[in-house]
Amino acid sequence: MLQKPRYHRFFTIKAVSNLEVDAAFPIGLLMLFKIRVLLGSVCMVNEVMSRQRAYDLQTKEIGYSEFWDIEMETMSRDKLLRLKEDKLQKIIEQAYQTPFYQRKFKEAGVSPSDIRTIEDLKKLPITTKDDIRKSQAEHPPYGDYLTVPLKQISGLYSSSGSTGQPTTSLLTFRDQEVVTERSARSYWAFGIRPEDVVQNIINPQLFLGYWFVHWGATRIGCSVISMGIGSSDRQLQVMQRYGVTCAFMTPSYAFHLAEFASKKGIHVRKDLNLQYIVLSGEPGGSDPVIRSRIEETWGVKVFDCPGMMEAMGWGYTCKEQKGVHMQEDHFIWEVLDPETKEPVQPGERGVLVLTTLETDAQPLIRWWTDDYVLYSEDYCPCGRTSHVFPGGILSRSDDMLKISGVRVWPSGIESALKEVNGFGGEFRIVKDSSSIRKETGALFKLKLQVECRSETDAVDFIKNVKDKIKAKFNITPEVELVAVNSLDRFEFKAKRIITK
Ligand SMILES: [Zn+2]
Repeated sequence: MLQKPRYHRFFTIKAVSNLEVDAAFPIGLLMLFKIRVLLGSVCMVNEVMSRQRAYDLQTKEIGYSEFWDIEMETMSRDKLLRLKEDKLQKIIEQAYQTPFYQRKFKEAGVSPSDIRTIEDLKKLPITTKDDIRKSQAEHPPYGDYLTVPLKQISGLYSSSGSTGQPTTSLLTFRDQEVVTERSARSYWAFGIRPEDVVQNIINPQLFLGYWFVHWGATRIGCSVISMGIGSSDRQLQVMQRYGVTCAFMTPSYAFHLAEFASKKGIHVRKDLNLQYIVLSGEPGGSDPVIRSRIEETWGVKVFDCPGMMEAMGWGYTCKEQKGVHMQEDHFIWEVLDPETKEPVQPGERGVLVLTTLETDAQPLIRWWTDDYVLYSEDYCPCGRTSHVFPGGILSRSDDMLKISGVRVWPSGIESALKEVNGFGGEFRIVKDSSSIRKETGALFKLKLQVECRSETDAVDFIKNVKDKIKAKFNITPEVELVAVNSLDRFEFKAKRIITK
């Protein structure tokens, strides 16, 4: 019978919590103080012990369990629901300490004691990215929804600012621990084990996703190579030299790197030891076409790990690859119709809305993710009782575009163009064969048709347009000028993205 290796538990602070220390040594406050001072060194000792334990387990060839946390991952739905509702009350009280949520509760005419069940959550309004951005603009730099003093913060991360002002995410040490466990649980479900050599090819610059990989794979006990992005030559050298078995990268880069390797005479299926590619940072990881093309090209299993900076890794695919499992005990999820904000029916698409249950510093109540998912009541045959969204993230709401990892939206382009002298009033975003990668369908170039008034100097106008767009989105567009009024106008819901 397979046994679960429990050594990873020894990495957690939980294993040497104050509660256990208090229970083990109930000999007065003075002694407790001394013990807590020693906590750091106890953890280090445990980490060394846990590595030894991992080594022992491997050398004794004890098999691994399929589950990282069998109790949570296979908990009955009823028990899970009760657990989530217990956590909900705590997170509501915690959030209500902040002016941000006090305002929201007041606007809805609701007090924390009114929110007792998951059903009660509907009494509260949605929280959007714009709400967060406004809060951070009015109370710079962190906004007014931080529940802990800055001295309790152990990490600071930022969005790229491609959809407006960059937003900042702050993590307490406990938040970091929670994210680490969540990542480890995801990667374990993919099949990653302590003997794997993991190459992290995610952009590390202020980007929390990079650290999910580093912390999660380290927690499992893998050998983690922290490469970051860039230098395809070096990435391949490292992959070959160290026999890397698992790499984390974007779908676009997976295609690019395979092509680059081929030009260098490296056959990625035969000359490398890769067994898994985990896709992150772009949509497409759950798309069966993209996944199978990467699997075919590389000769590996491909997994998806969706999540956004604010909600920090809400799901993962298991070996069954039926869809994306929700990290159920850490989130309350809803799938809502984007217009009515009412729950959709089974078989319908809607926007995923998340309430965090294990986030200390910046809890989110009814967070509008902007991600479309398919609501289904089917469960996965892998044995996990958590909810599964077939196909993972299907698309983004609104007309949001992602161009080489940068999010661009038409109303943002419009506001930038309106600042340029000579703008004729209308424009189009052009998607054609020269701006879309044929393998993934992902945009890698921003192509614009822009109306320019006839009296304007064309060269100056194009330069000004490029400068304004670059300043707003950090991406330089390709600009084609067209005459004023040559593009259709709209009375309701402009459709400014055209596909040729
Ligand atoms: Zn499953």
